[in-house]
Amino acid sequence: MQRCDPVTRLAVEDRQEGRCWLCGQHRRLDMHRRLQGSLGGRYVLGNLIGACRPHHNAIHDRIEWALKRGWLVESYEDPEQVPLWTVDGWVRILDTGDVIRARQPDPAGSAG
Ligand SMILES: [Zn+2]
Repeated sequence: MQRCDPVTRLAVEDRQEGRCWLCGQHRRLDMHRRLQGSLGGRYVLGNLIGACRPHHNAIHDRIEWALKRGWLVESYEDPEQVPLWTVDGWVRILDTGDVIRARQPDPAGSAG
């Protein structure tokens, strides 16, 4: 089974200052892949969110809720391009480790 290498895990924890990005609590973080492993999602910084266990479970239990917030992305999407909600607001995260402020995506159908 593929798993997250320790260097990448440390970089995620560092990026988030050791906090779950969903609740802001300092807890042990699971490495959640936004594009899931079954869809080819890799353990790279732009695809990873550090989430506490309850929130990691919530992401997988509430797919629609997670998709709206960028915690999951669709099979055809590039995780680096999809904004996500964090306790620090909406951001985009890159494989380089950069975190870029982003705007909340428009609801589907209101583009223009
Ligand atoms: Zn949490």
